[in-house]
Amino acid sequence: MKRKIVAYKPLPDDVLAYLQQHADVVQADAAQHDAFVAALKDADGAIGASVKITPAMLDGAAKLKALSTISVGYDNFDVADLTKRGIVLAHTPDVLTESTADTVFSLILASARRVVELADWVKAGEWKASIGPALFGVDVQGKTLGIVGLGRIGGAVARRAALGFDMKVQYTNRSANAEAEQRYGARRVELDELLATSDFVCLQVPLTPETRHLIGANELRKMKKSAILINASRGQTVDENALTEALQAGTIHGAGLDVFDQEPVDPHSPLLKMKNVVALPHIGSATHETRHAMARCAAENLVGALDGTLEINIVNREVLSQ
Ligand code: NAP
Repeated sequence: MKRKIVAYKPLPDDVLAYLQQHADVVQADAAQHDAFVAALKDADGAIGASVKITPAMLDGAAKLKALSTISVGYDNFDVADLTKRGIVLAHTPDVLTESTADTVFSLILASARRVVELADWVKAGEWKASIGPALFGVDVQGKTLGIVGLGRIGGAVARRAALGFDMKVQYTNRSANAEAEQRYGARRVELDELLATSDFVCLQVPLTPETRHLIGANELRKMKKSAILINASRGQTVDENALTEALQAGTIHGAGLDVFDQEPVDPHSPLLKMKNVVALPHIGSATHETRHAMARCAAENLVGALDGTLEINIVNREVLSQ
């Protein structure tokens, strides 16, 4: 009998065709919760993104052998529970690293140089004379960038910063990133030092119980008044209420945010009213090329996991030795 795969995100035609060579593919809308859960019950595998998959949703899914997320982050899954159930979880690192680093850098530049605010101002017909200091931004080149979580994406941001913008790079990680230290002169420091001395604080950690609200009121207080916070990791790594208060009180200079506590962000969020906040709709990896590469990678991961041949991109490798 042909295997069954549930696709809970629309896939490019060629990726869908590739999956159909290996299995019957059922497309499911995760917003229709009950139908989606019912579809998982007799599936061998599932592929998708941006949906929380809880243990309860997998009860009774006795055949399920692999889940493949079209993302590098896997905070939508209870990994320990999947491992217990013998379900392989695969993700898509690397293929999205450079596009996401571009997004991070666009947030750095846009926040510092007030690109969005001033572009809106021009379009609103406000440009009536040569601009003065009230509309000046701050420099990016030569400044100090603090990266909280210097892994794949953080490394690509560090490369742009050090080689392209002559920035000093410092970072926090649980373990040293020797390559970034050697290539980009990145200096590993304690979080307190990073916060106190960086002009831009850029979060690129995964969301885990350890990193949830890693940046809260205490941490924001330690940042320079002139500093800009950039978050393209996950919204919940920052305490959004504390960030709002810090921005309202002027204890930091601004923020560039690709991610929010709740997504889509509440249109009434006070963050969206502030001129010194650049807000993006979670576009980290959202280019045609990269999203296609991610879908392809996730599809290959899923087929490999179902065939038992997948060797890379496995989140819970322990499941293979059970
Ligand atoms: P990665 O290579 O695993 O890098 C994560 C880095 O964070 C590692 O250097 C890791 O170093 C560090 N880290 C992990 N836990 C930490 C902790 N508790 N405290 C301090 N540092 C910690 O992952 P990546 O590919 O760069 O992706 C990072 C995250 O970016 C993803 O998990 C995802 O949430 C987010 N992301 C967002 C978008 C978007 O659209 N905005 C796109 C792609 C990815 P140590 O292990 O040494 O601590």
